[in-house]
Amino acid sequence: MEKKLDLATQGVRAGQVRSEFQEHSEALFLTSSFVFDSAAQAQARFGGEPGHVYTRYTNPTVSMFQDRLAALEGAEACIGTASGMSAILTMVMSLLRGGDHIVCSGAVFGATVQLFSNYFARFGVETTFVSPTRIEEWEKALRKNTRLLFLETPSNPLTEISDIAALGALARHTGALLAVDNVFCTPVLQRPLELGADLVVHSATKHLDGQGRVVGGAVCGPAKLVNEQMVPFLRTAGPSLSPFNAWVILKGLETLDLRVRAQSAAALELARWLEGHPAVARVHYPGLESHPQHALAKRQQRAGGAVLSFEVKGGRAAAWKLIDSTRLISITANLGDVKSTITHPATTTHGRISPEARAAAGITEGLVRLSVGLEAVSDLKTDLERGLS
Ligand SMILES: *Cc1c(COP(=O)(O)O)cnc(C)c1O
Repeated sequence: MEKKLDLATQGVRAGQVRSEFQEHSEALFLTSSFVFDSAAQAQARFGGEPGHVYTRYTNPTVSMFQDRLAALEGAEACIGTASGMSAILTMVMSLLRGGDHIVCSGAVFGATVQLFSNYFARFGVETTFVSPTRIEEWEKALRKNTRLLFLETPSNPLTEISDIAALGALARHTGALLAVDNVFCTPVLQRPLELGADLVVHSATKHLDGQGRVVGGAVCGPAKLVNEQMVPFLRTAGPSLSPFNAWVILKGLETLDLRVRAQSAAALELARWLEGHPAVARVHYPGLESHPQHALAKRQQRAGGAVLSFEVKGGRAAAWKLIDSTRLISITANLGDVKSTITHPATTTHGRISPEARAAAGITEGLVRLSVGLEAVSDLKTDLERGLS
């Protein structure tokens, strides 16, 4: 058997299909529909003959993105979606029905919690939220009608680690599916399907683009679930990925391996520096030996990732002073960008939840989240030092 290509190679090469013009760089097919040779061919295409019909269904640029990401995740199939949230929407709408039950980590993206608890609940799909780290809680929450286990690891912003292999085994035992939101690690650092997950969801808006340009998403998994169940939903409901955005993200995948490894190495260096800083009470980063699940992180991730959070001494005033003193790092909610970004979770991403729930979740007033980009670490230290001293 031929040797399987390395992930770095697949990021550059996988999925490319050349048109009759033999373009070297992947072509951007900015077209809403495709032309048929004849009425008979149109009939055949509408009847399911392979070939493109309409961009809500399929588009060659979107297909190249899907095939490349599938290769990186080691998945049989991938479906591109308009955003990360519409990836989660597409997965749940196509696999679940009223009366089904979801068990979800309590430490997932805010909009994911809203989607599950406010919207799916209206259609009779109930969700139980549990600790990302305590397997006993997942076990206890299981019901006869549990169809889906959903988590994000590392979590945002405290970088708690869920055990994908253990939860995958639990899902199989129950006859449910395990879906992992792999936004923080990307396939460069973590391949959930190899660890026992059934599905991987992505917000391509983050690392996959990596340069803060477009919004997009994807679901990767077995062809039976993705092609047979999700594709028909996407074609009908229409949360499709635009070809332009697919092209931008496809080109982003070419540098994903380089970017994520470099950003992760810089994050580790900054995490170590912050851990020794007198103005910092605590650093949350899976790559640090002090992280409560460092061993598990080392088992399932190739490195700690680009995102870390830390608690400055002096509460909100000190955190805001630090944020407002930066001149280089961007004050913005995005993450995974080559430009480093900084946020105050308690008053932004986690600002809508009650102070009690926030405290219980460990989102303190002094907590700051940093997504480390590709600037020189020395310049990032200078930028942070100004507000820490
Ligand atoms: C941003 C994000 C999402 C949502 O993605 P969009 O592209 O903004 O819709 C989902 N999960 C995680 C972990 C995210 O960071």
